[in-house]
Amino acid sequence: MTSDPFRLTVLGSATPYASVDNPCSGYLVSSGDTRVWVDAGSGTLAQLQRHVRLDELDAIWISHLHADHSADLLTAYYAALFADVQLAAPIPLYGPPGIVDRLAHFLTNTSTRSPVESAFAVHELHDGHQVHAGALTLTSRAVAHGIPAFAVRIEAGGRSLVYSGDTAPCLGLTQLAEGCDVLLCEAESAQVPAEGEQVHHTPEDTGDTAGAARAGRLIVTHVGRSLTPQQAVARASARFDGPVDYAAPGVTFSIGYVAGAARDALPRAYATEVVVHCQDNPAVRVRFCDRFRQDEDCVHYAVEACAPGLNARVDEVVAWIWDADLVRFLEELARDFQGWDGERVWQNNDRDLTLRAAFRSGGHVGLTWTLRPWPTAAGGWESSVTTWLEAGEQMSALAAELRHFLHEDRGDRG
Ligand SMILES: [Zn+2]
Repeated sequence: MTSDPFRLTVLGSATPYASVDNPCSGYLVSSGDTRVWVDAGSGTLAQLQRHVRLDELDAIWISHLHADHSADLLTAYYAALFADVQLAAPIPLYGPPGIVDRLAHFLTNTSTRSPVESAFAVHELHDGHQVHAGALTLTSRAVAHGIPAFAVRIEAGGRSLVYSGDTAPCLGLTQLAEGCDVLLCEAESAQVPAEGEQVHHTPEDTGDTAGAARAGRLIVTHVGRSLTPQQAVARASARFDGPVDYAAPGVTFSIGYVAGAARDALPRAYATEVVVHCQDNPAVRVRFCDRFRQDEDCVHYAVEACAPGLNARVDEVVAWIWDADLVRFLEELARDFQGWDGERVWQNNDRDLTLRAAFRSGGHVGLTWTLRPWPTAAGGWESSVTTWLEAGEQMSALAAELRHFLHEDRGDRG
């Protein structure tokens, strides 16, 4: 087994169009130095650059040619050929049959066909297609979406992640996902359509697919506009015994088993960082990262506060199990999305992290994060930034992300 972390980062999961804080479908899958961009929905190229440059990618893999999974290939082509990106060779691109002509039809402006092949080394997928990209092995299966569409099983060091792409429940997906550690499965539909062909999963379908495949863990993604992430997770959980998470944008999941785990230990997938962006100014942000657990009683992590001209960090903030819980504090704020008077305050036991919440008309909440290092360790400074969020859905999503970050092996479920 490799010790290189095998990771899934959610660049975006919205459908069928990007929302203010969530691009369409796109993921970065990495192990060691290997990085593959999986689906290039609109908005995901921007988020990809938080983690990797285009010329550092080992491959791009596209499930199907609907725009919410492939549109950013168009601007990635501009980046690759007409900007500051220096490709040593065209980026290997794996996608459905016809992908190169579809791109060329859009990109060609004159009588001369645009040189799509100079940006991308295109390989068409077929059922059972397999390729090694650095440390990752990608196996594709045809799935049921009404157009040529594929799911993929990505493996590294004996661990496995399966991504459904867009599809109705189908044998190809269930077989591909057999025994996988993590199934990342779409949940576009609130209901099975009364008539016509089914081309997506409902949340119940995702639970059934994960159960039939004996997946270790389910992450629901591509949640349609008629569902909330909370509803999708709750409905999937009712049909699947394992842990169920939501593919919140910006979250990174580690994929693999707990080292030295007991026979019945669950695979784990916890968020390795959480970033809170101010919706009024994305340059203002708070980042939770570098989490580790020393013993049963606490989780350690670092918090960074950034704003133009400010870069503050406290290391080893400690969440003791007897602390007032930050996640619960945020969940209560989300529940009271219609507002409250005055200020609500949360502080951890060591008082190096304080959060003040104030409600503003229009359904927004200002979260003021104050960092103050434990006096004996550093002392002498205190710094605050305020991130504005929507009171309902954004607050719930943040609570869920922090739950994944803080609680992965306490037996809690997000
Ligand atoms: Zn689709």
